[in-house]
Amino acid sequence: MDKLSVDVCVVGGGPAGMALGLELARRGCDVAVVEQTSHFNRSFRGETVSPDAVSLLARLGILENITAAGALVNRKMKLAEHGRTLLEVDFDDFPHHHRHPLDVPQPTLLAIMEHEARLHASFTLLRNTSAIGLVESDGAIVGIRSRGPAGEQEIHARMTVGADGRYSNILEMSGLTYRREPLERDVVWLKLPVPADWTSDTYHIRIAGGRHGLFIPTYPDLMRVGFNIPKGGLRNLRRAGLTSLHTRLDELAPELADLVRDNIRNWSDTSVLDIFTSVVPRWSRPGLLLIGDAAHTLSPILGQGVSHALFDAMTLAPLLSEALPKGRDELTLAAREFQRIREPSLRRSRSLQLRQEKLFTFSDPVRVLLRSTFYRSLNRTPWLKKRLLNNVFFQLQKQ
Ligand SMILES: Cc1cc2nc3c(=O)[nH]c(=O)nc-3n(C[C@H](O)[C@H](O)[C@H](O)COP(=O)(O)OP(=O)(O)OC[C@H]3O[C@@H](n4cnc5c(N)ncnc54)[C@H](O)[C@@H]3O)c2cc1C
Repeated sequence: MDKLSVDVCVVGGGPAGMALGLELARRGCDVAVVEQTSHFNRSFRGETVSPDAVSLLARLGILENITAAGALVNRKMKLAEHGRTLLEVDFDDFPHHHRHPLDVPQPTLLAIMEHEARLHASFTLLRNTSAIGLVESDGAIVGIRSRGPAGEQEIHARMTVGADGRYSNILEMSGLTYRREPLERDVVWLKLPVPADWTSDTYHIRIAGGRHGLFIPTYPDLMRVGFNIPKGGLRNLRRAGLTSLHTRLDELAPELADLVRDNIRNWSDTSVLDIFTSVVPRWSRPGLLLIGDAAHTLSPILGQGVSHALFDAMTLAPLLSEALPKGRDELTLAAREFQRIREPSLRRSRSLQLRQEKLFTFSDPVRVLLRSTFYRSLNRTPWLKKRLLNNVFFQLQKQ
């Protein structure tokens, strides 16, 4: 079996893995990113990046390239119930340097990171290559077994990083314990053209009793729509036929009825996201560390996943590059330090998302009324609205 030796082997070329590969290569570390797919053409994945994530893209030095390649600026967010606006957020009102969420196609984001990383000789991207096992020696992980176009090979590394997403194989193989906490609903995603009388700078949230839908402008001229169904409810929805999906959307956005019928003609025009959060109490063991969704899968509410993936990578890279020359014990300490730094912010995002998610499930009239009162009061109290949104979108840019 072929062998390759690097300082760091990163499994997964999503936002977390590619950003880590880029940051390590810039620091002169020998890094191999192992990615199972042959391309970055993924749809319905992390396209809206929060203002904090935008600030991280600027710190990574790739924001200008991204906007030049094409991205949409999101200026407003409107939450409405049965045609009445309950809450309106104007991102122009925030004083931060990067105040607007940005819709960035993930293929653009990842291709730009790859381009930048390839400027460094110490960076390798192994495409079409899957991690299929961990290599262990003296109780520590010393690399992976992978399968790629040339067959199986071992990739030896002083640190192996699992950045392989929400269904992480590396987590499964690592022996680290975790809890997967299913939320009450799943989400169906689809894409529609932006209606002529909607602007493409406004993110709409619609609620109707226990149902909610997100209508997110998506580069170049589309809108991503995500609406909730009961947990595991896809089979029932499909059994009821495509018309039942159209009707569900009518309840949330009746003005889109024609667009929905013209554009969603097949179940293949939709995809379903199984919503869960995962809690991994320890993100590392000697020689191995998890980052991004592999360490902390969040719900898609409020678009936090990419931001945390990038922040993980940018926090970890300097810790690893400093520890690498000092040996295994220092690397183990660096991995623990990484978790210590990152966990509080993740806990905050998770609990905000869970509270928001809970509000969206209210369906009995009393709680629905309480929810509308809450959103209306928030809307009328600018300082409170700012404080709450600061915790969601501006954790990194707080003044
Ligand atoms: C439908 C949907 C909508 C979302 N919308 C948003 C949003 O609007 N905003 C936002 O911020 N977040 C959103 N998210 C979340 C966001 O996509 C993730 O949080 C983010 O992509 C996490 O990055 P990651 O690099 O940790 O994992 P991923 O992006 O999942 O990347 C993991 C990579 O690992 C690769 N891989 C997996 N197993 C192996 C293996 N064994 N060997 C080699 N490679 C492997 C995969 O192919 C993949 O490329 C959404 C998620 C989904 C599913």
